[in-house]
Amino acid sequence: MKITPALVLKSVPWQETDRVITMFTPEYGKIRGIARGGSRSRKRFGAGLDPLTYVQMHFRSWENQDLIRLEFCEPIESFHLIRNEVLRFGTGFYFTEIISGLFPEREANPEAFALLLWGLQRLESGDHPDGLARKFEIKAIGAAGYHPKSGSCRSCGKESGGKGNFRFLMEAGEILCPGCYNGSSGQVITGESLAILNRVPSLGWEGLNRLRISPPVIEELRGIISNYIRYHIGGEFRSKHFLESIRQGG
Ligand SMILES: [Zn+2]
Repeated sequence: MKITPALVLKSVPWQETDRVITMFTPEYGKIRGIARGGSRSRKRFGAGLDPLTYVQMHFRSWENQDLIRLEFCEPIESFHLIRNEVLRFGTGFYFTEIISGLFPEREANPEAFALLLWGLQRLESGDHPDGLARKFEIKAIGAAGYHPKSGSCRSCGKESGGKGNFRFLMEAGEILCPGCYNGSSGQVITGESLAILNRVPSLGWEGLNRLRISPPVIEELRGIISNYIRYHIGGEFRSKHFLESIRQGG
């Protein structure tokens, strides 16, 4: 039997009493496993099969088999605040969708695991979900190897971060300065937003916790980076409409 810390990303019923669990682990990356009797056995799994829980998972695996077999788990953290506040829950759900979409199965990425754990712990400890989500998104694209070339204009090399509006070219993952932009496609991105985009990757957890992002930058980056991630994942976020309806007070 093997043991791993695991964050549960997804849990779906399977046949009458089983569940198929997708989870993220530091050593094995994203893995899927079947929990026999998982829909009934509170004894072996407790609430540990619910999405957004942090557990110590005991499992068996075999070569050439897609699904591992989950035997039992011990709870580490169940994130009560996230479960009880709808905006936090939607944001945590969004985090799991980003991780699930950006990282392939069975590819270890301890940096991405640490990021998801950090994101959920900060969400639980009361950080504002919107500012936190921007930090999370930027770190996630870095961990997946997709951080855009946002340090300088792709055409003339002018450094970003000063005054004036640059353009963000989503498909290329590059930017154009005001002088080089000739009216083609591209989203407006201010120097302030570029400064955050360029700064976040180099910050450790403490630095990230201290970083304050102004509301206009949070708003601007919300559209740009979320779309950029979606472009790389190639699908819509299920959490998107949920979060939008909360914001509109629906
Ligand atoms: Zn330029």
